[in-house]
Amino acid sequence: MSEQFDVIVIGGGPGGYVAAIRCAQLGLKTACVDAGTGKDGKPALGGTCLRVGCIPSKALLDSSRQFHNLTHMFADHGISADNAKMDVGTMVGRKDKIVKQFTGGIAMLFKANKVASYSGFATLHKGNVVKVKGADGKDVELKAVNVIIAAGSVPIELPFAKYDGKSIVDNEGALDFASVPKRLGVIGAGVIGLELGSVWRRLGSEVTILEALPDFLGAADADIAKVAAREYKKQGLDIRLGAKVAKVTKNGDALDVTYADAKGEQTITVDKLLVSVGRKAATAGLLAEGTGVQLDERGRVVVDEHCHTGVDGVWAIGDCVRGPMLAHKASEEGVAVAELIAGLPGHVNLDTVPWVIYTEPEIAWVGKTEAQCKAEGIPVKVGSFPFAAIGRAVAMNEPAGLVKCIAHAETDRILGLHLCGANVSELVHEGVVAMEFKGSADDLARICHAHPTLSEAVHEAALSVHKRAIHKAN
Ligand code: FAD
Ligand code: NAD
Repeated sequence: MSEQFDVIVIGGGPGGYVAAIRCAQLGLKTACVDAGTGKDGKPALGGTCLRVGCIPSKALLDSSRQFHNLTHMFADHGISADNAKMDVGTMVGRKDKIVKQFTGGIAMLFKANKVASYSGFATLHKGNVVKVKGADGKDVELKAVNVIIAAGSVPIELPFAKYDGKSIVDNEGALDFASVPKRLGVIGAGVIGLELGSVWRRLGSEVTILEALPDFLGAADADIAKVAAREYKKQGLDIRLGAKVAKVTKNGDALDVTYADAKGEQTITVDKLLVSVGRKAATAGLLAEGTGVQLDERGRVVVDEHCHTGVDGVWAIGDCVRGPMLAHKASEEGVAVAELIAGLPGHVNLDTVPWVIYTEPEIAWVGKTEAQCKAEGIPVKVGSFPFAAIGRAVAMNEPAGLVKCIAHAETDRILGLHLCGANVSELVHEGVVAMEFKGSADDLARICHAHPTLSEAVHEAALSVHKRAIHKAN
């Protein structure tokens, strides 16, 4: 006999655990099945985000930033510290403690909300039956009126650079190096390559990033990518564009990475290699025959704008469906689906999902880039403002960066806000809120911003759309 629920959630990442909690809050009898384990091999909720993604990467970014500031930035303030050292074991241990705190926190939230938690691998069968291969060796069968698939994603592997967990690693391995690699190679100058490349560069690694595409950070606005590239170069990140990697071979304890670019075939020798060329939906083995749930050509679950699969009572959210692979997007979809199941309105506007890259300086954006507007034939007015003219940024010794505001040329409606600079991970939400309220550049320009704050750069960029910026020539 299978145990009966109102909702079964497959996956306990930021999509799945948030969906499960919201379902339970709405009075639905809810179960969540998750296959994730921690470094100790024991079940750990929270998915990629909490175990090997957002949270651990930000912990290491923060530790390495403190070290970099101490060794490179504090002297400007008159602070000196001789013989500064980084103990990598302590840094990684701190990260592990944070991960444990948060994964354990989800288990407590499940208890508090009476979400039934199953540890193991789930397969969806016809008729909303979910069979679980239990982590404890026991198999169980569950059934529900609604099933929410939140299986997440896994790293893409290159056939000539298979992960060995030691010298060729994915994000998980690069969060756990026992010491600072002398030479770190990175394949892919995307979000993971830049964030984790920055961590080890700040601690002294010689970091070479090989990117197949000719343009740097194609998803970001070109002006922002240009400013960021300049800053990364100053930090010693060696980013090589148009570099097509063909071969990775062992060279003693090191690795030879051979690639071709405009200059021809070249080889670099590295001690560790991080492969970060994107992620794919974790849908292998998820669906039994005859469920009717469709996968697209990239293995993602096909859903409509409400995350419904078209099969009665089956929904899918987060990294395993279309749209950006971001934790907050997964969570918002989880809430929306829970509310739809409970008969409430629920919707996620993918046009206002913010992006953040947590490098130094940070990069953040919401909405369309100037190039996207041009390609779509949308007439725009653009304003921008540099952090170098913002008193607070200069006082903080963080003058690098820029804010760019893009508005419709006729309606003045904000179409995009693009930022590079200190704390822009927080500032981007001015753009998110303005866009959700269908605000104009003039609306943002007429809102009083506190002085001295970094937010004045957003204010001035909005003013600059109408050539009214005060602290620069228009
Ligand atoms: P996941 O978090 O992948 O969770 C899916 C869960 O389902 C996993 O626990 C998995 O084990 C489980 N599962 C899969 N299949 C089954 C099955 N059949 N049965 C049972 N369980 C199953 N995003 C941000 O927004 N901000 C960041 O700063 C950020 N940093 C990142 C840094 C790194 C290094 C990485 C790798 C990712 C980062 N991301 C970040 C992306 C973010 O982690 C993902 O977008 C997010 O975790 C997706 O959530 P999800 O719930 O869809 O899937
Ligand atoms: P990505 O898509 O961000 O970047 C992959 C990069 O690798 C691209 O620039 C691509 O052109 C390049 N590439 C692909 N194949 C290549 C090859 N053979 N040789 C050289 N370059 C190649 O992917 P990622 O960095 O692996 O991250 C995966 C996803 O995880 C991100 O897209 C994002 O959704 C999520 N993530 C988000 C954050 C954040 O929000 N701060 C942080 C980390 C990861």
